[in-house]
Formats: sequence, structure tokens, C-alpha cells
Amino acid sequence: MGRYIGPVCRLCRREGQKLFLKGTRCYTDKCPIERRNYAPGQHGLAQARRRKASDYAQQLREKQKVKRIYGVGERYFKNLFERAAKQPGVTGENLLVALESRLDNIVYRLNFASSRKQARQLVRHGHIEVNGREVNIPSYPVKPGAEIRVRAKSKDLLPVQASLESKTRPEMVRWLAVDEGTRTGRMLERPSRADIPLAVQEQLIVELYSK
Ligand code: SF4
Repeated sequence: MGRYIGPVCRLCRREGQKLFLKGTRCYTDKCPIERRNYAPGQHGLAQARRRKASDYAQQLREKQKVKRIYGVGERYFKNLFERAAKQPGVTGENLLVALESRLDNIVYRLNFASSRKQARQLVRHGHIEVNGREVNIPSYPVKPGAEIRVRAKSKDLLPVQASLESKTRPEMVRWLAVDEGTRTGRMLERPSRADIPLAVQEQLIVELYSK
């Protein structure tokens, strides 16, 4: 299935929570979920009033939610899960850490972009370098110690400037450090689950794929 190109606020309404897909608007009262916190479509409100969802429905929704937050497709997500399951430790945590370590996510968390979608574009268009070399692969796995920088020719790009100057931006996570002046960030360490500010129950995804 191709990438979703419809209105992203519908995705948040479908999942019943803010997924922060639209940049600075998500932090204002213009966020539609503030007014209509039920699934889109003519049956959305009725669905919200119905009885509790089945276990399977909850597991499925949790998986869809995480995929939508990071903007990744089903095949990629499943492959990442299988790799996470082979690693030592807790599979759900390994999965989230792998998603958090994606270059586009790190560019977003460093506030060089106001959304993961915008961060993906910056990476794709060659505006980002890792350890001094241009990397244009959004899923590139960043390792602890790596330096992530907006390229010199791109450091005054409007989206980068607007994101850094925005008053409504997510808080910096403690496993990243940034020097906004030089548009340079560093991944200090591998995050633990407690360091990933995401309201998701990754265990439900593990249960779904373990069936
Ligand atoms: Fe989701 Fe942001 Fe749209 Fe609100 S404004 S519904 S958080 S994408």
C-alpha cells in the first residue's frame, strides 16, 4: 500500500489522540482533535459511543498509531519488528528505540524541522549530514555518538529557522544535545523506554505480531 496523502488530522482523530503530525499547529487550539475527538466519517461518533473494542482491535490500533506517528509503511514496520524481536532485551522497547534512532526522527527531535514529515523532506533533499557526510536516507539508523548537522549551505533554510524559533515545539529529549547556532546535534546515548516521550503501549504490538 502506498503512503497516505490525505488530511493528516484525520489520522489523529482515528487514533483518538494527538499524533503531532502537523508541526506547530498541533500545539495550538486550532488542533481539530480538541473539538472533535472521535473517528472521522459519518459513523465516527457512533463508533466512539459503542462498547469497548476487542483485544485484537486495540492491538491493531496501537500498531497503526505507531506507524502513523513515525510515517512508516507496513512492510518496513514488520521488518523492523522482526529485527527487534531477535535482539536481546524487551522487543517492544527495541522496536521503539529503532524508530527513534531513524535520522528523520532525530532531525525532528533536534527541532531542525517542525514535524517528522518535514524532517524526512530535509533529509531526502540532501540538507542533513551525519558525521560530516551527506545522508539522504530518512530511515538511516543513527548510532550513539554520531553528529547530525544541517549542511552549511542549508542552515538558513526557512523551515529550519522557523522550527528553531517556534515557541510551540516539543521539549528536547535528554539523549540528544543540540547547538542551535551551528545547527548541530549529537546523539549522546541509546535511549531507554523512559526516555521516549510517546503515549503508546508497545506491548500490544508485540502481542499482535506474536499471534
Ligand atoms: Fe493531529 Fe496535529 Fe492535526 Fe492536532 S493539528 S489533529 S495533533 S496533526
